[in-house]
Amino acid sequence: MAIPLVDLKAQYVGIKDEIDAAIRRVLESTQFVLGPEVEQFEQEFARFCGTAHAVGTSSGTSALHLALLACGVQPGHEVITVSYTFIAVAEAISHTGAQPVFVDIDPETYTIDPAKIEPAITPRTSAIIAVHLYGQCVDMDPIRELARHHNLAIIEDAAQAHGAEYKGQRAGSIGDIGCFSFYPGKNLGAYGDGGMIVTNDPEKVSIARLLRNHGRRTKYEHLTEGYNYRLDALQAAILRVKLRHLTGWNEQRRSVAHRYNELLADLPVQTPLERSKHVYHLYVIRSAQRDKLAQYLREHGISTGIHYPIPLHLQPAYRDHPQAGEGRFPVTEQCAREVLSLPMYPELTDEQVVTICEAIKRFYASS
Ligand SMILES: *Cc1c(COP(=O)(O)O)cnc(C)c1O
Repeated sequence: MAIPLVDLKAQYVGIKDEIDAAIRRVLESTQFVLGPEVEQFEQEFARFCGTAHAVGTSSGTSALHLALLACGVQPGHEVITVSYTFIAVAEAISHTGAQPVFVDIDPETYTIDPAKIEPAITPRTSAIIAVHLYGQCVDMDPIRELARHHNLAIIEDAAQAHGAEYKGQRAGSIGDIGCFSFYPGKNLGAYGDGGMIVTNDPEKVSIARLLRNHGRRTKYEHLTEGYNYRLDALQAAILRVKLRHLTGWNEQRRSVAHRYNELLADLPVQTPLERSKHVYHLYVIRSAQRDKLAQYLREHGISTGIHYPIPLHLQPAYRDHPQAGEGRFPVTEQCAREVLSLPMYPELTDEQVVTICEAIKRFYASS
């Protein structure tokens, strides 16, 4: 039996009745964009994150863009983040007219290396986007210290970290503003696109609410130009059902990860380092023979992924970026060559984990 990287069907089968009822409720209400489902979900998600407020958005990318705008990021500013991430992070910075400034990552957690931030700060720097990659929070204390000292905003990209914790605080509630994606494959995934901003700052909430809906104050009065970045009610209703299961699913992901760690312990692969409460959006190992290993697993019916094979500073899209080109971020570049995401989803059985690890064992025995 083939083992996929993620299995969204297995999850739907487990909650079909609840989901179908929620969808019917929205269809019968005919309130499809914003409205009570979205408001309820915002309140429930804010409570889940431990923040006072939440603002639903059309995607994780629009959440990041609105968060930057709410923090006052403007053309001419610089925003520090990593090259080792999904392009949405840098896109959102560019959408404001600011310049993304990349720094290298820590080789054990794959998240921003706090020691690399200070040398990248200039008088134009106005914010840092901390990307909680793979489901684990960035080491936030040194970043909070730097932000205080240099008067920078901290935006958390928690698109892969719904429910992750850092020193008892939930992802999204640690910096000035947190951004989430509900893309279907995320730990909390919609059946389409969706996103969310969470914060304790009512001023940032008003800016985000205004801009996500065409700068509208009332139906026909626009205080400013904005965007169509609204969350739709079907997604909100689906996400409300799924939010009730999220803590259980994250626990299942954590047990799968810990089982992988056990079974891979004696093999020449680097298993994930858990520094704080990790929710394993992805279970990522490192191997010097990554491409051969991936091919061997594929031949044995096991799907894998690479997150991410091309860092942003090496993407054609950033060919004109001042930091473009090989050699500038050695840890990022090495990880991009060596990381491999193994199948990870809450419904993955112990038998499947054993099958995957035995295949990896056989690969190393034969190579
Ligand atoms: C998924 C993701 C995003 C973008 O979210 P969308 O909802 O697809 O726009 C941003 N950052 C990271 C780290 C992501 O994984």
